[in-house]
Amino acid sequence: MKIRSVLSAAVLAVATTFASSQALAQDTFTLRLAETWGPNFPIFGDTTKRFAENVEKMSDGRLKVRIDSANKHKAPLGVFDMVKAGQYDMGHSASYYWKGKVPETLFFTSMPFGMNAMEQYAWFYHGGGMELMQEVYEPHNMLSFPGGNTGVQMGGWFREEINSLEDLQGLKMRIPGFAGEVFAEVGVNPTNIAPGELYTALERNTIDAVEWVGPALDLRLGFQQIADYYYTGWHEPATELQFLVNKRVWDKLPADLQEIMRVAMRTASYDMLVHSQHANAEAWANIRKEYPNVQIKQFPDEIFDAMYEANNKLLKEAAAESDMAAKIIESQQNYLEQSRAYTNISERAYLNTMAEVE
Ligand code: CA
Repeated sequence: MKIRSVLSAAVLAVATTFASSQALAQDTFTLRLAETWGPNFPIFGDTTKRFAENVEKMSDGRLKVRIDSANKHKAPLGVFDMVKAGQYDMGHSASYYWKGKVPETLFFTSMPFGMNAMEQYAWFYHGGGMELMQEVYEPHNMLSFPGGNTGVQMGGWFREEINSLEDLQGLKMRIPGFAGEVFAEVGVNPTNIAPGELYTALERNTIDAVEWVGPALDLRLGFQQIADYYYTGWHEPATELQFLVNKRVWDKLPADLQEIMRVAMRTASYDMLVHSQHANAEAWANIRKEYPNVQIKQFPDEIFDAMYEANNKLLKEAAAESDMAAKIIESQQNYLEQSRAYTNISERAYLNTMAEVE
């Protein structure tokens, strides 16, 4: 119902704008989109497909999006460069993949101990997040928009139980991004390995632990067959994917098609969050039934305390290195503080109540 009302509002908005831009109304556009994901990648790839379908329907065929998956363009982590250069008009990826090129892009995916999906969407759309993201991407000739959320990611699969900080020393774990740096601070050897090699790496003890996403996507890779301990998350509480649009391409689109794009990207993002919830719940039910060896674990407090401290230290370092990073971190922290105070008396209070009566 919610999606339908958003769409019909968009159609009305489009009808109004359409009348005032007759000269451009006949033009048709085809945008080429490069996604980081392989062909038919579940959930993430469904998001770009939904976006393309909605754009075409809402524009009555005037705007089409052709999607190239990683097998076609061969550069899963080259999406930033390809869209920036205009080789592709659009991209679908994750902002934290570009931290080696533009460190300030890191903050727009998800931060350890940061906002949950509801809080982070509120920050993007109502709390200044979009404006900060544009400030980071504009010098690179691109616009960036939220592109779908996984919700809280699981903390990873471990072959041995982790009971203390001692157990983490020298542990080899696939964990990318800022969370990998936090883990490194508390003694872990973080590595990043391509998704296709993760199962073998864990099976052959090249790594001792692996984090990927959550039950739906993890189940496909088969970790539940070789690891018994599935830890709850702290490191990516609201992983947001990203649509990138080349700015010159965007500027050429008439206002009504720009608005259709905005609405379709926002709807596709919301859809991915609810699709993730659905698919994860389904996959978790499956794992519980088929793999009774799998136990859900939470890191002990001493580990969380050490990681929380390490996270704050790394944020301070990042803020000292770049004024823009400092501005984003301050905005996120202030927003989190205000938003969480409300989450605590609403969502958290409700879940606590339920835990007591269940
Ligand atoms: Ca992850």
